[in-house]
Amino acid sequence: MTMDFDVVIVGAGAAGIAAAIELQKTNLSFVVLEARNYIGGRAFTDRETFISTPVDLGASWIHSFGSRNPLYDYYQRLGKDDQFDYDDEDGDALIIDYNGRPLLPHARQRAKLVLSRLYDRLDEFAGNNRNSDDQSIEQVIQTVYEQLIESDEQVKRIVDLSLSGMEQYEGSNLNNLSAKCWETGDAPGGDRWVSCGYGTLLQRICKEHNIPIRLNTLVTHIDTSDTTRIAITTSDSSSALLCHRIIITIPLGCLKRNTIIFEPPLPEWKREAIDRMGYGLMNKLVVQFPDCFWGSSTRTIIHACTVRRGRFRFTICLPSPSNILIFFVTGVFAKELETLTDNEILVEIMNFLQNIFPKRTIPNPIRYKFSRWSQDPLAYGSYSNFAVHSNPQTIADLAKETADGRVHWAGEHANSDDGSENWCYACVHTAFTSGQRAAKAIQKQLNNS
Ligand SMILES: Cc1cc2nc3c(=O)[nH]c(=O)nc-3n(C[C@H](O)[C@H](O)[C@H](O)COP(=O)(O)OP(=O)(O)OC[C@H]3O[C@@H](n4cnc5c(N)ncnc54)[C@H](O)[C@@H]3O)c2cc1C
Repeated sequence: MTMDFDVVIVGAGAAGIAAAIELQKTNLSFVVLEARNYIGGRAFTDRETFISTPVDLGASWIHSFGSRNPLYDYYQRLGKDDQFDYDDEDGDALIIDYNGRPLLPHARQRAKLVLSRLYDRLDEFAGNNRNSDDQSIEQVIQTVYEQLIESDEQVKRIVDLSLSGMEQYEGSNLNNLSAKCWETGDAPGGDRWVSCGYGTLLQRICKEHNIPIRLNTLVTHIDTSDTTRIAITTSDSSSALLCHRIIITIPLGCLKRNTIIFEPPLPEWKREAIDRMGYGLMNKLVVQFPDCFWGSSTRTIIHACTVRRGRFRFTICLPSPSNILIFFVTGVFAKELETLTDNEILVEIMNFLQNIFPKRTIPNPIRYKFSRWSQDPLAYGSYSNFAVHSNPQTIADLAKETADGRVHWAGEHANSDDGSENWCYACVHTAFTSGQRAAKAIQKQLNNS
């Protein structure tokens, strides 16, 4: 059987969902093909593992929260939500040294000065247009860092704690990140933690709009050699799919790994943008305990590690009755943990907890779940970032149509700079915006043709 659509959307994450909602406003026929058995992609809420608490293993904050965010109204319609934001700066954060002791005020003050010098150095590099060649953030700050850190180990740990915040945010280590694009496209505005789960929110949006989505359908080939119809091959061999336009929203990690074969192959400029853009790794290690031994008023633990920068730097604490700790791990450390078994990861976590709470008895966990996004063949990582030598033009190329305007591209990595002060990328809401943009472009093309 052959099925013919005006538009096929590949992927039912935020970008694919937004494109579908936009196309629903037209008379164009379309379908969404999704390889997973659920909607939401990297916004995934686990509602099964933990007793009475949904937990996001992917996205959890709505960044740039406010009325201009395309997900704002949907979030408001959720009604009651715990409005605790679990961010770094929160008054209920337990900010501690590697051994659980407080960070000394004079060391924090000194670290603040060092950091402001490092940030000045980055501002200077990023703002200096004569620097035609890019370098990594690590390279650019290295000399100043070494000069300023001197021999105070606690100051060094606090500086590293702050720098690793940048690594956590970007999902990558500083030696991979572009100094020229330092702070380019960072999400402006505040964040909102979605306590019912960001994945839950996307699923509710799909339900509200009654979007036609075919789950468990892996796209393997896209053939644009016929100029009238695009042919799509999927894992479901019972039907062949044809369409006039296609929107591809699969993650950058999948594009880097060529998980879909294009016939003819993608043009060189598109391949180059795919290779050039950075794509990081952030994982969440979620552990549920029988009680809230860390103290019910503590909502986050921020820890200055002595072993390596950023190791277990940030942990979210969900109070009773959840009694859950969510450890955020990033970059090379996250990748190394992915090679361990669950039991080995648990040992690492328990040792860490014993170090920061030396006088407490840490109870045995009752449940746990660890994401391994870099091993997920439908993601191969967490989200994009500016690697050395990539820049907003790289995102513009990732978003640019191919095959004479018949193949459209969307996704968190393909939200090109629209010149607005709110522009950012790598987030759920920006993936959503990119999907809206691709669908509108198609509507314009087909209404004109
Ligand atoms: C641990 C973690 C924490 C994060 N935290 C936040 C956060 O707090 N806030 C935030 O805004 N963002 C966060 N992000 C980033 C956010 O999750 C992504 O930017 C966003 O969800 C991407 O949406 P998307 O539609 O571009 O891609 P996806 O959600 O990945 O959707 C793409 C879809 O394509 C499907 N697919 C892939 N290949 C095929 C194929 N061949 N055939 C058919 N379907 C296919 C995939 O299964 C997937 O469902 C986080 C991500 C991770 C991993």
